[in-house]
Amino acid sequence: MRGASDDQVEARQQRLWRLTMRARYIGILVLAASTAFAPEELTDERWLATVGVLAVVGPYNLAFDLVLRRRGTLWPIMAFTDQLLAVTFMAAFPEAYGGLLLVMVALNATSAVAFGSRVAASSALVGAVGAAGVVAIESLDWGWYLVFVATSAFVVHIVGTVSETETELRKRHGELLEGIDGIVWEQLTRRPSTLFVTGRAEDVLGYAPEDWAEPGFWRAHVHPEDVDAAARTYRDGIRRGEHRELEYRMIAADGRIVHVQDRMRVETDSAGKPAHVRGVMLDVTEAKEAQARARQYLNLVERTSLAMLVLRIDPDDPETLLVAAANPEAARVLGAGQDELVGQALDDALELPGEAVRSGLLEVAHTERSFRAEDLRFPGVAGGRRVFSLYAFPLPGGSVGVSMDDVTERTMAAEVLRRQALHDPLTGLPNRAMLLERLRSGIEAADRSSSSLALLVMDLNQFKDVNDALGHDHGDRLLIEMSRRLQRVLRDADTIVRLGGDEFAVLLTDDADVDRATKVAATVHESLERPFQLGGIDVQTSVSLGVTVYPDHGGTADQLVQHADVAMYQAKRGGGATCVYDPGSDQSSVRRLALLGELRRAIAEDQLELHFQPSLDLRSGTVGSVEALVRWRHPDHGMVPPIEFVELAEISGLIDELTRWVVTAGVTQAHRWSEAGLAIRVAVNLSVRNLADPELVPWMGELLRRDGVAPALLKLEVTESQLMDDPGVAMDVLAQLRGMGSSTSIDDFGTGYSSLAYLKHLPVDELKIDRSFVAAMLEGRSDEVIVRSTIDLAHNLGLEVVAEGVEDGATLRRLAELGCDRAQGYFIARPMPGEDCTAWLSSPTSLTEVRASLPAGADGPVVRAVPHH
Ligand code: C2E
Ligand code: CA
Ligand code: CA
Repeated sequence: MRGASDDQVEARQQRLWRLTMRARYIGILVLAASTAFAPEELTDERWLATVGVLAVVGPYNLAFDLVLRRRGTLWPIMAFTDQLLAVTFMAAFPEAYGGLLLVMVALNATSAVAFGSRVAASSALVGAVGAAGVVAIESLDWGWYLVFVATSAFVVHIVGTVSETETELRKRHGELLEGIDGIVWEQLTRRPSTLFVTGRAEDVLGYAPEDWAEPGFWRAHVHPEDVDAAARTYRDGIRRGEHRELEYRMIAADGRIVHVQDRMRVETDSAGKPAHVRGVMLDVTEAKEAQARARQYLNLVERTSLAMLVLRIDPDDPETLLVAAANPEAARVLGAGQDELVGQALDDALELPGEAVRSGLLEVAHTERSFRAEDLRFPGVAGGRRVFSLYAFPLPGGSVGVSMDDVTERTMAAEVLRRQALHDPLTGLPNRAMLLERLRSGIEAADRSSSSLALLVMDLNQFKDVNDALGHDHGDRLLIEMSRRLQRVLRDADTIVRLGGDEFAVLLTDDADVDRATKVAATVHESLERPFQLGGIDVQTSVSLGVTVYPDHGGTADQLVQHADVAMYQAKRGGGATCVYDPGSDQSSVRRLALLGELRRAIAEDQLELHFQPSLDLRSGTVGSVEALVRWRHPDHGMVPPIEFVELAEISGLIDELTRWVVTAGVTQAHRWSEAGLAIRVAVNLSVRNLADPELVPWMGELLRRDGVAPALLKLEVTESQLMDDPGVAMDVLAQLRGMGSSTSIDDFGTGYSSLAYLKHLPVDELKIDRSFVAAMLEGRSDEVIVRSTIDLAHNLGLEVVAEGVEDGATLRRLAELGCDRAQGYFIARPMPGEDCTAWLSSPTSLTEVRASLPAGADGPVVRAVPHH
């Protein structure tokens, strides 16, 4: 492998050779001239000599020159032929003997330069021997010859040695340059756009030295953003003859951006004019990038909102930490200058909140394990009002990095959230979550001191009425006033809680027993009995209270709350004011209570289902209407029957939502059937509380209109007993319903005590005989009497009669004989989901068995093609 330094040496050799050849042409001309213009008269012989010199030496020189140009090399043979040629001339022109000796000395010198001292010495020997021959033959003067030999020896030795040393030096120098991890370049002032560079250039940027020598190469490969500034700096340096150091980016052959640092030196000639410019270009990309990264990190540390310190152990005292560095935020937090902090003992710079933090930090320095501390307040920082979290970590060299994060706002936000999570926003009272928390810790405390505690749960009886009648604003006011009164009459130690809606609770922790709890309940009761002033109106309220005592009535917080609820419902149902939980009371009430909590979600999440039970027209043997019966498909308890939750819905006020859900689903189904060509009326059960809702009927009207369902397809059932609760209101609603075009029905007829006087005026279309009479009809005479007289009564009042709970064919046949209009019961069909009911209604065989029990018999489709009414 050839090194780049060999190339350098060779290039110099070439230059020397070219120079030699040029010198020889001049020599030849001088030689020719000197023969031609010698002081003696010009003879023909001399003419001949001149022409001979030119004719022989010229082509000879030309031949070598051509070889040099073609092959780039000169052969050492030239040194020998030179000598032989000179000797030949000497033999031909002995009179020019002296001059030719001089020429030979000169040739020896050039040989030494061109081929080195070895070649020069041997060729000089050849020349000396030849010349000695000529001197002897022609009997020339030996004195000149001796001078010639001595001079030649001297010249060959000196010039050869100098030249060889110089070559060696250059080679070394070249190697040295190549060893530099950068590009060494040279620019000749004569050719400013060309650069000569060392071979290493290829390693740095990927371009060969030849590429660099192309005019304009440098300019074309400097980053466009840097090129003008760099060129200006170079020009300026050259013009002033000054050194320059500059940095810019270059584009490497593979497209990489390489940062170079260039040191340019301008060499001037004796006249002070720049002769050439040299420089060393170093690849500083890595350093540059590292620098940029370091700068970024520094920026980060300088600008972060974390206070950051570097600590190190005091060499004189291993128990003291010194501040080695601090970022601006740390200086700000500690209230000192950054420089001021450096070198200070940490204890002087920052009063630590406790020994734990100090030893924690020291431990990081000694054990190299990180340390974290939360919720720190430093007495010297903002008067201890700010909260910090601190993180300390080992740094190389035994220092400790510390970051301090001001978490005051976050901590406060968490506090606020916690407060919000535990308080009711309307009254500001603790909420259910807080009650459970306090109950739990109260239970623990009671266990420790083997004392008891009591929980009172209360529910406002008229809250819904107030809300409905006076609006939510007044409802809210009532709750706030109530909470104030409770706070006034109870002691500070008692926790008053708003459980939600109109439910409140009071927790008595100081060994409260049933006695004390009932006394407090009486106080509460009394205080809430006085009317509230709401918007100029006196509102009279009453509460029902449930009482539980730990540990008698429950072992856990949840149990106590649940049992207090049960007691409260018992109070509500019994009409009494206060009820103490009775562990013996039936278990189902607990389940009912749990259900109540879930019912709202059940409605919202569509856990409810509507089933439909057909009622059979006993004359035609067809079905014209169905009763919609709600079911709750509970995720845990499976199908829950309505008797288990409808009453709960009534108590809790959820009945409005429940009824609306049922009506919507019923109307939707009626719509589907009528679209399918099945004229089926859907009967929906109303609860008495629905009758108090003035919005209900208009809402139904709107729904029917929206769904495009004929109002006649909707029937509404109200039980007799509910009807008699407040006949005036019921009458109104039923009249509105009929006015709208829907029909009405009195359910469970026979169980209430309706007076005939009312019955006559009630806007109803039918009576439904309660199934207790129907079921017992065939066994007991009195029941059949009731059924028969009810049928007659209804017909006399112009009402249709439906018998409920028909479970066998005989009953069905008897009802038909008694003239009952319709019948409903398991014998005909059980309540079924909408789709099943559709299938049942559409199947021609659904009634085959049933119809066999009808005295008149019947056939054809289950549903008559034309609407019933
Ligand atoms: P109801 O209005 O008297 O409904 C008739 C009940 O008798 C239904 O019970 C029905 O499944 C059942 N039944 C029907 N045929 C027979 C039979 O041949 N033998 C016997 N033993 N029972 C029969 P269900 O569905 O459990 O409903 C019970 C009560 O719940 C209903 O009595 C009604 O008062 C109430 N209810 C049902 N759905 C709703 C509703 O959507 N809203 C309201 N407010 N109350 C509803
Ligand atoms: Ca019913
Ligand atoms: Ca009924």
